Amino acid sequence: MKATARSILFILVLSAFACFSREAGAGAQGGSGSAAASSTISGKVYQFEKIADGVYYATSSSPMATGGNHPIIINDRDVLLVDDGTTPAAARALLQDMKLITDKPVRWVVNTHFHYDHTDGNSVFGPEVEIIGHEYVRHAIADLDVTHREPFKNAISNMPVQIESLKKQLGEAKDPAQRATLEKQLAATQADLEELKALKPTPPTMTYSSKMTLFRGQREIQLLFLGRGHTQGDTVVFLPKERIVCTGDLMESRLAYMGDALFDEWVTTLDALKELDFGTVLPGHGVPFHEKSLITAYQSYLKDLVVKVAELRKQGLSAEETAQKVDMTSHKSDFPQIQGPGADLRGVRRMYEWMDERARR
Ligand SMILES: [Zn+2]
Repeated sequence: MKATARSILFILVLSAFACFSREAGAGAQGGSGSAAASSTISGKVYQFEKIADGVYYATSSSPMATGGNHPIIINDRDVLLVDDGTTPAAARALLQDMKLITDKPVRWVVNTHFHYDHTDGNSVFGPEVEIIGHEYVRHAIADLDVTHREPFKNAISNMPVQIESLKKQLGEAKDPAQRATLEKQLAATQADLEELKALKPTPPTMTYSSKMTLFRGQREIQLLFLGRGHTQGDTVVFLPKERIVCTGDLMESRLAYMGDALFDEWVTTLDALKELDFGTVLPGHGVPFHEKSLITAYQSYLKDLVVKVAELRKQGLSAEETAQKVDMTSHKSDFPQIQGPGADLRGVRRMYEWMDERARR
């Protein structure tokens, strides 16, 4: 019994880390990614991979909770930052580390979607910075009580479990190096929890509904709403000259969170994404990639999941049972994070709800 409880706790803590603190750094498991960074600059919390002239991709493997990865677009006189992290502290650390790559000021922040790991740094920016999001992002942050719903709810409720587990491990650890690592992790997690408790959800200051283009010197930056799917308001940031597209969590290099998904529309929106002329994808999590085939593979995962979940539901299984049983292992070669049968419970719960919504239409 004791061993079982311990292994459940271990899995809980692991999954909490996987969907929170370590999200940004977990790229290695993310499907067919790019080769090792050719030109990377490391700050205290973030690393910056140079993608093209004035275009960087920031990731973190710090014990501090940091959230999604950040494309950074440096223009003639200013900087556009894509997403701003999971806490105000993470956003401040990013701005500090960004001084290693530019002395120009951030004047634009794009929120690719409303989830906390992309928007909870919004409150650190002053009135000189425009925070741009799809109009749904402003609605969600302003009206949907985001700190009392998923995915935030799960993150904040997991943190005390992580803290207790780290304390327990620290109590048992003898090796000085291991103790030092655990102490760092514990301090970072305690600080993250305090930050999250004090959080003030801050909506974008500027919204658009289908397309918005910024011209900054020689740079053309398109913000595109290609359709609903991952959420009801995801923005893709497209640099047509550089042939780079920043996809947020609409398309990661790995499986994305599905707790707000509209599954059929997601597949269609990914078709629209594939129509763009790009050579590099900078996703919200995972690693940069170049192949449209990974997008097709993700569409196939989504379609297959809908079919398989519907079958199990028809047999009378609850969302919880289905989430454990649904076998998606045939997609393992594209998405190596699939280790065996099962899918994320929040995604499967959302799929049950979405199936009910569809039936009522
Ligand atoms: Zn995310």
